[in-house]
Amino acid sequence: MTSHAFQTEVQQLLHLMIHSLYSEREIFLRELVSNASDACDKLRFRALTEASLLRSEESLQVEILPDETAHTLVIRDNGVGLTEAEAIEHLGTIAKSGTKAFLQSIKDDESRKQANLIGQFGVGFYSAFMIADKVVVESRAAGVPSEQGVRWESTGDGTFATETITKAQRGTVVTLHLKDDAKEFAQRWRVESLIKKYSDYLAYPVLLPKYLSDEDKKKQPEGATAELEQVNAGKALWTRPKDQITDEQYAEFYKAQCKLWDAPATRLHVTVEGTLSFTALLFVPTDKPMDLFERERKGIALYVRRVFVMDDCKDLLPEYLRFVRGVVDSDDLPLNVSREILQQQDAVQKLRKQLTKRILDHLLKLAQSTDAKEKETFQAIDAAFGPVLREAMVTEWDKDLKDKVARLVRWASTWTSSPAAEGEEARPVRTGLEDYVRRMPSGQAAIYFVVAPSLESAKAHPAVEGFTKRGFEVLFLADPVDEWVAKELHEFDGRKLADIARADSDPSSADEKKKLEEDSKTYGDFLTFCQTSLGDGVGEVRLSSRLAGAPCVLVGDGNAASSQMEEMMRRMGREVPKPKRTLELNPNHPLVQRLREHHVSKADDAQLPGWIATLRDQAVLAEGGRIADPAAFASRVQALLLAAVK
Ligand code: ADP
Repeated sequence: MTSHAFQTEVQQLLHLMIHSLYSEREIFLRELVSNASDACDKLRFRALTEASLLRSEESLQVEILPDETAHTLVIRDNGVGLTEAEAIEHLGTIAKSGTKAFLQSIKDDESRKQANLIGQFGVGFYSAFMIADKVVVESRAAGVPSEQGVRWESTGDGTFATETITKAQRGTVVTLHLKDDAKEFAQRWRVESLIKKYSDYLAYPVLLPKYLSDEDKKKQPEGATAELEQVNAGKALWTRPKDQITDEQYAEFYKAQCKLWDAPATRLHVTVEGTLSFTALLFVPTDKPMDLFERERKGIALYVRRVFVMDDCKDLLPEYLRFVRGVVDSDDLPLNVSREILQQQDAVQKLRKQLTKRILDHLLKLAQSTDAKEKETFQAIDAAFGPVLREAMVTEWDKDLKDKVARLVRWASTWTSSPAAEGEEARPVRTGLEDYVRRMPSGQAAIYFVVAPSLESAKAHPAVEGFTKRGFEVLFLADPVDEWVAKELHEFDGRKLADIARADSDPSSADEKKKLEEDSKTYGDFLTFCQTSLGDGVGEVRLSSRLAGAPCVLVGDGNAASSQMEEMMRRMGREVPKPKRTLELNPNHPLVQRLREHHVSKADDAQLPGWIATLRDQAVLAEGGRIADPAAFASRVQALLLAAVK
């Protein structure tokens, strides 16, 4: 036998699993039976083009043979099998994306949550070592001669060994030598109840030796092979009528099919018949899957007329719904559809649109529901996946779909973050555009929002107070994706959306504007002085009546980059265009008033330019931006402090 070392990550995972998942260790059976069923799926798919691989009378199935005397449990399938090279690769490494990052995160977090984290990761084949002190896998791949079988074995201690064997039948036999404290898994009734619990929905028959009473056993001739009987329902879950499926069955299916551990937040099970016929069983997870931002992530499994085709079909849903997992079974696609030709299939495009529409409608139903539990579900989905969903505002070209997403997006706002009025029920953490519009006082010209790098800086943005003071609500767009969303969000239900840090969204009344004109005359010289002294640092300097408590704010015109956009471009190594934002001063603020007075009496005071630069810099900081010369700012502040602390 040749000895091989497990990949370091496998060793780490084995160690963590054995120590953290003890109380859930029975899931090993679900994992192994689901591997066996996957192997049958793969064989059936290959047989579509290589008919010789599967004889027509042959039935694909999984057999489970517990042996109470030998303390072993055998799981046998006649699926696609493994070659020796495949066994070394698949049963010695972890192919999942994000493995390193995941193991790192779990190491850093020495908490009780470990078990849950490992579970989320999906434990797979290696879970066998939770209950077995030795695992032997014998396999023969489909289409190879019987002398090219493989035996793989390991005690889970860092190495495994393989050798070539002769194996008469295609498929895989996993033999578990049960640990002393896991002998219960050699009991027939125990195994049967686990199969009913975890694998009932599988499309393939799962067989166990027929139950024999002691009496019956005595009657058995010596050495007779036990007769087998099917113990699962043996019908793919999504093909069964909805009213015959329990919540538990859905939840178990989700865990095994999507390889996720949490309970799904919501599910959608639809069967559509007509010009486009399909069944979809889709789930939104509760927790963010580990691979949400990976290119090689799991996705929707595609079946064509109950035959498995591929398990991560990215073409069925847009990127912004990549958190949705589950199964789609189409009646309209050709069975031998490949990844390459998938995109060109007209039916795929139609299917994608239908699925997207149905998912968005389902989410809308939850969002708009009056039922407290459904509302809560939506809020949880929004908290986990809201930013992903919002990508649609930028990437979705279909007007109807984009409109649906616009009704689903949620942000915190000045309303959600202020205390509820007396008698009013508690306010949600985030609010949507429909509710915002409902609250709009008459005379409000637009739906207002502010873009900032964090919720705190959005709340503290110098322009916000000028709007709240006038009774206008401001939405806080504070996720990285919101910068792009803001650029694409022009209108909602016929109402304009306006960035409050834009020159053209001024909430001032006509009277205020008139007064401003007068002030501007008084301030004329001072403004010119500021402009000259700041030079390239700003576009224009002018007065504004939009502000309340803040002395000044930087506003852009339609094209100026915000400070977040500048930062993003800088990080991408792109040249940042010279910011040409306007500095607006608040003539009602004492600081601005005094600076002007100082300028009137001592126009040539050498300190003035520094004060004005400091005023500008603090406005950039207040909106969460990055100032051009932090060192100069720091030394100016020090000088001011020195003068103040006498
Ligand atoms: P996953 O199933 O999530 O890919 P596992 O650790 O459970 O991860 O299995 C690793 C790989 O080993 C599988 O992807 C498959 O290629 C192979 N494998 C496991 N069990 C079987 C089996 N019964 N028949 C064929 N291949 C198998």
